[in-house]
Amino acid sequence: MARDIFTADFKTEPYWLDDVEPPASGATELPATADVVIIGAGYTGLSAAIETARGGRSTVVVDAERAGWGCSTRNGGQISTSIKPGWEELCRRYGSERGTAIAREGHNALAWIEDFIAREAITCDFSVVGRFHAAHNARAFGRLADGIGKRPPGLEIPAEVVPRSEQHRVLGSDAYWGGVIYPRHAALHPAKFHKGLVERALAAGTVIVEHCRATGIDRNSSGFTVTTALGATRARDVIVATNGYTGTITPWQRRRVIPIGSYVIATEPIPREVMDRLMPTPRVVSDTRKVVYYYRPSPDRTRIVFGGRVSAAETDPRISGPRLHADLVALFPQLENVRVSHSWMGFVAYTFDTLAHTGVHDGIHYAMGYCGSGVSMASYLGMRTGQKVLGLSEGRTGFDDIGFATRPFYTGKPWFLAASVAYYRWLDRWER
Ligand SMILES: Cc1cc2nc3c(=O)[nH]c(=O)nc-3n(C[C@H](O)[C@H](O)[C@H](O)COP(=O)(O)OP(=O)(O)OC[C@H]3O[C@@H](n4cnc5c(N)ncnc54)[C@H](O)[C@@H]3O)c2cc1C
Repeated sequence: MARDIFTADFKTEPYWLDDVEPPASGATELPATADVVIIGAGYTGLSAAIETARGGRSTVVVDAERAGWGCSTRNGGQISTSIKPGWEELCRRYGSERGTAIAREGHNALAWIEDFIAREAITCDFSVVGRFHAAHNARAFGRLADGIGKRPPGLEIPAEVVPRSEQHRVLGSDAYWGGVIYPRHAALHPAKFHKGLVERALAAGTVIVEHCRATGIDRNSSGFTVTTALGATRARDVIVATNGYTGTITPWQRRRVIPIGSYVIATEPIPREVMDRLMPTPRVVSDTRKVVYYYRPSPDRTRIVFGGRVSAAETDPRISGPRLHADLVALFPQLENVRVSHSWMGFVAYTFDTLAHTGVHDGIHYAMGYCGSGVSMASYLGMRTGQKVLGLSEGRTGFDDIGFATRPFYTGKPWFLAASVAYYRWLDRWER
């Protein structure tokens, strides 16, 4: 039954890899020494590498898989200014100065990535397309509309309220209760952006060694020895950039991030007139559900790329695909007969305080925990981490020294996740 919704050429690989050749990283051998060894070749690791290599430090990036195998070629390519806790909540937790500094980092990350892509001339379909954030019930719409204009000075964001009666001018669905357009939010092609980072890192002199899992980190008087599947390398500095794939070699970080699967499908090409009716603009879309849907037209407007979390426990993309398709059809009944050409997933890293974290623990630098919004934040905090390694004061961020909490008995396997997701999905349905 379920298979009928898949096209004949269906893949469980990200749609983004269809039109991007994996970048050739070149190196097959691990250098015996480096100034900096970075574990993880996604946005975080590569952005850090670009800084350290350009700063004159010999830099090696290792990845257990191909470069970009993690979230950095699997995501939805949506970029916002959002930090999950609101400004009031941040000020309550950390005081107004630090709370404001953390909230500002969301704006900084968006401004930085826009500038960086332009400066580096990275061809990745980056565009300030705007976001329609749709309300899944009347109360959520009220909260969204009320929130506009209540931002503190310096953290204002342009926003336009769209009542339900006008919704079809932004989205051809009756499933929502209106929403808000954030015109400054942006989108890019995740794999093209990642390829651009690989190319810039290589051009700066970084050695990227793929299929080279780091299996141990030992501290010694001159720095660190990183043991890998391809041998050992000595380094003055180590950066851990493993986010949702953080493993047992960094147990302190592993106890602090919660890997959560996020699932995406791409439809087969749909007729232009249908696309123009359902998604009349290139804007990305998200909604106010606790278990959020996020979707967009592909950059060439031929397909819809639709993401969310469709099961309490982690599952296979062949199982999540039909479920996501059913949820897509619930929003857009016109798509009932449109098939799915790609279904994939990846692990994002949540944290117990729903904030990203960066810092140094036991001499090891890290940046991770982007809570599902890491396209700009991972790249930005990776860049800041690289600056820290270089000893530059610009490397400091609002997230430094805020404490990175874990919970008793949590070792990196989120046994509580299935129950939490089931509860939040029930809440979303009940609220509707
Ligand atoms: C389905 C999905 C949709 C998303 N959509 C969005 C979105 O629309 N907008 C947004 O802002 N964010 C989104 N995200 C989140 C965003 O993609 C991530 O936050 C970001 O890519 C994290 O980048 P990273 O470099 O820190 O980690 P990753 O890209 O995950 O890279 C980590 C790397 O570490 C490697 N690794 C792990 N352990 C080792 C080891 N021991 N040795 C060597 N290498 C190791 C892994 O192989 C992996 O390649 C989404 C994520 C997913 C999965």
